[in-house]
Amino acid sequence: MNIAAVSPHLDDAALSASVALGVGGATVVTVFTALPAAGIPVSWWDRLTGATDSLDRQRERLAEDTVAMGLLSATGVHLDEPEALYRDDEPDLDGAVQRMTELLASADEVWLPSAIGGHRDHLLARQAGLRAAVAAGHSRVMLYADFPYVIAYGWPSWVAGRPGGSYLDAAFWLADQMASARLDPAALTPVITRLTAEQRAAKAEIIAAYRTQAPALRLGPADLAADPSKLDYELAWQMPLTPPGDPAAAVP
Ligand SMILES: [Zn+2]
Repeated sequence: MNIAAVSPHLDDAALSASVALGVGGATVVTVFTALPAAGIPVSWWDRLTGATDSLDRQRERLAEDTVAMGLLSATGVHLDEPEALYRDDEPDLDGAVQRMTELLASADEVWLPSAIGGHRDHLLARQAGLRAAVAAGHSRVMLYADFPYVIAYGWPSWVAGRPGGSYLDAAFWLADQMASARLDPAALTPVITRLTAEQRAAKAEIIAAYRTQAPALRLGPADLAADPSKLDYELAWQMPLTPPGDPAAAVP
């Protein structure tokens, strides 16, 4: 099985689909990897994660991604579009779609972000990936649940297979997120992967590889020790593709 996965930022695909990508030989195409201009003010996220210079931080993140791709025995491809925090305008992704189309053409299976969590870049990457997958002749894709956003309120009861707490409905939150991301649950077939002990250990290693991001994502060693259920599952949906020109494929 030859998988090509689209990742909005350096870390998203590897954190969300570590089991599928961990089989080895995958191609992970990351869209928003451009270095910011030297001397720009440090972005709020970079500040939150302890950086004093966004250019240095993005270089660190590129190096982290190389390590993570090594752990997955995957090939990382960077499309070098500027991410939301390093740009002023909406990006023109036509060139990225063209490059993605070439990269997805030889894949048996295409994995894209579902855009759970409401990040503009995730939605843009998904829509660009959908355009590319259609252009490359694929009739379906896998949408991965963006991790750790998908577990902002824990795993929904239908994933974990046990009732949730009385005063917290994570399933409602996820359904609401999917609606916000313009996903139609009726068109999606969920695929739940329960991680084995070996897969959990491998995922913890991948998380640790993205060391500048893990604590702010609440995935540091102390976070995982306090709530080991974070590594219990990976969630994705199989989605049939709409033909070219279908309004459902347009970015809202
Ligand atoms: Zn992201």
